[in-house]
Amino acid sequence: MAPITDNLKTIKGQLKSAAEKAHRCVDDITLLAVSKEKPAQAIREAYLAGQHHFGENYLQEALDKINALSDLTIVWHFIGAIQSNKTQALAKQFDWIHTLDRVKVAEKLNRHRCDNPTPLNVCIQVNLDNEPNKSGVAPDECLALAKAIEQLPNLRLRGLMTLPKACDNFESQYLSFQRLTHLQSLISSHLSTPLDTLSMGMSSDFCAAIHAGSTLLRIGQAIFGERP
Ligand SMILES: *Cc1c(COP(=O)(O)O)cnc(C)c1O
Repeated sequence: MAPITDNLKTIKGQLKSAAEKAHRCVDDITLLAVSKEKPAQAIREAYLAGQHHFGENYLQEALDKINALSDLTIVWHFIGAIQSNKTQALAKQFDWIHTLDRVKVAEKLNRHRCDNPTPLNVCIQVNLDNEPNKSGVAPDECLALAKAIEQLPNLRLRGLMTLPKACDNFESQYLSFQRLTHLQSLISSHLSTPLDTLSMGMSSDFCAAIHAGSTLLRIGQAIFGERP
């Protein structure tokens, strides 16, 4: 078996057993394959193995791959830092944006999405520990941003996303993710449509994320191998 196909099979097995341990339904957890810095051919291989959601971090690199793979029915997620002068391509070429953290950018995405028959799915990126070098809103600013996004007709606010402080033990990973889960239900209770997506968990911490309620895992290296 090709390594990517093999890796996908392994990850899906681990996902399934973590979901069972957490008494969760495996169908409630979407696997997003993070393909940054990997060639279009690697994505094609994963697609042929049944993987349909792909995440990219760098706009130009992503646009090249979207173009090269236009014969496939891929759901494209943008998970990188957003430059506010690049919102047009993001709004037109992607199905999901996970890294929204400013009203100004939300308004621009909304404007550029107006010709599309379906709204753009968005998640708010939360900087759980207010780390200065990280993007994302502070937890106490998240509700205000969610309410502003809710007013924009061409965006559909799906939930929250986080990249927590790296730590290598299950218990601290779990506690970080759980804070996002709690914030999500607090915010949901103030919105007219409840949020349904928690974008959290990567190659090194996805089991803890599943236990804390993740509905969308963003996994790169465990599928495609180490990045250069
Ligand atoms: C690169 C990246 C991932 C995937 O990380 P891996 O360690 O390769 O699984 C997930 N989320 C974001 C935002 C990333 O930039």
